[in-house]
Amino acid sequence: MEFDYDLFTIGAGSGGVAASRRAAAHGARVAICEDRRVGGTCVLRGCVPKKLLVYGAHFAEEIEDARGYGWTIEGARLDWGRLIAAKDRELDRLHGIYVRLLEGSKVAIHEGRGRIVAPHTIEVAGRRHTARHILVATGGRPVRVAIPGAELAIDSDQALDLPALPRRVAIIGGGYIAVEFAGIFRAAGAEVTQVIRGDKVLRGFDGECRTHLQGELVKKGIRIVSGAEPARIDRVDGGLRLTLMDGQFVDVDQVMMATGRKPNTDGLGLESAGVTLNKAGAIAVDPFQATTAPGIHAIGDVTDRINLTPVAIAEGRALAATLFDGKPTRMDHGSVASAVFSQPPLATVGLGEEDAAVQCGPIDVYTALFRPMRHTLTGRDEKTLMKLVVERGSQIVVGAHMVGADAPEIMQALAIAVKARLTKQDFDRTVAVHPTAAEEFVLMREPTRRVPAPS
Ligand code: NDP
Repeated sequence: MEFDYDLFTIGAGSGGVAASRRAAAHGARVAICEDRRVGGTCVLRGCVPKKLLVYGAHFAEEIEDARGYGWTIEGARLDWGRLIAAKDRELDRLHGIYVRLLEGSKVAIHEGRGRIVAPHTIEVAGRRHTARHILVATGGRPVRVAIPGAELAIDSDQALDLPALPRRVAIIGGGYIAVEFAGIFRAAGAEVTQVIRGDKVLRGFDGECRTHLQGELVKKGIRIVSGAEPARIDRVDGGLRLTLMDGQFVDVDQVMMATGRKPNTDGLGLESAGVTLNKAGAIAVDPFQATTAPGIHAIGDVTDRINLTPVAIAEGRALAATLFDGKPTRMDHGSVASAVFSQPPLATVGLGEEDAAVQCGPIDVYTALFRPMRHTLTGRDEKTLMKLVVERGSQIVVGAHMVGADAPEIMQALAIAVKARLTKQDFDRTVAVHPTAAEEFVLMREPTRRVPAPS
């Protein structure tokens, strides 16, 4: 059978665009469809705009800290509207780049929602296209907790576009998005209450880092209400009231729900195409990104494995190599570094102490907790935590973690060492770059604790 295309990708986010362009580079005839703007969550509703707001809000501290270095800065204030407008201009620019990259790669762009309507057949805006392979790269979207008044809350999509900075904000959730926005709103000057149902933010991360970060967030004035679940949101005079299950309430101008994301699988025709979803509602794929339906593949957040942009991109490129370069390629999901752009940020690669103790037998844990040199003059009470988790028998560094300024930048380089399974002795042989914070990672002499294998 003759097909219109070799690959048709549904969803022009980072993963879909990367897979499509790489497939085209391997000589495939490729089309992509998108029902919002080309660019996807990371570029338009996630990583990029979020980080621009983190930068924007963080200047408040820079300005305060400058005093300790002799500066007098008067009348500094944030014009939130201008920040949002500047951010939007940058997103327009990036959207344009994405479109041009696709065009330059000879990938046909179809505007509209794609739906699989028959084997090898996708319908977009009333037109049918056929393709040898179909790639579902539709990402995910925020989910809200179903409580009365949930519609009064905003989610991360809207939080990025608020025309004015709310004076008082309540954030429900303790994950990546919740702590990042708590930091943005707080640094920009809002009163922030964060409601988490566990005892600490960032479940799943290294416990000591979670505790340390939470302490720093509280020092910055974020009120964290732990062990609490939301019950309802009501309109009250002058704003909104978030009431918790135990009857406590907080009156605010804005309630944000950052309670997780869910794969975009609705309305794609997946069921009739024979694509199986797993229990969490994500598309089930094998290590080569193949779904249960022949000729249909999936990558990125819609498969809900490691929901990070660079992972989706790597999965997409691996798929392009498998399908169009004659090289069956598995995506390696091991030791993927990540960062939470909280203030201060947290970054991590490999295993946290708790997971390593279970998976690696006896481990040695090295930590450094210190006031960064920069704050010797600013007087700011902020401490950096660095941590290495080492498998005792092999001396391989199985995890590196940091909470503190520049943690994401430092972790990117450390991730190479952890991915390469270097040993603690390799770290020890590395000469420090002085004076930096990062040098602590090669100066940790004695373990802070030795953790026995679980009995
Ligand atoms: P997460 O799954 O990380 O966090 C969801 C939070 O909501 C958790 O604290 C969870 O609590 C809480 N929650 C869930 N349901 C309820 C409920 N019914 N009542 C109260 N609290 C609830 O999701 P995010 O939305 O923060 O992020 C989604 C994904 O996006 C992340 O996993 C990450 O992969 C990606 N991401 C990455 C970023 C980065 O790399 N910097 C930034 C932002 C997102 P509990 O822990 O108790 O379950």
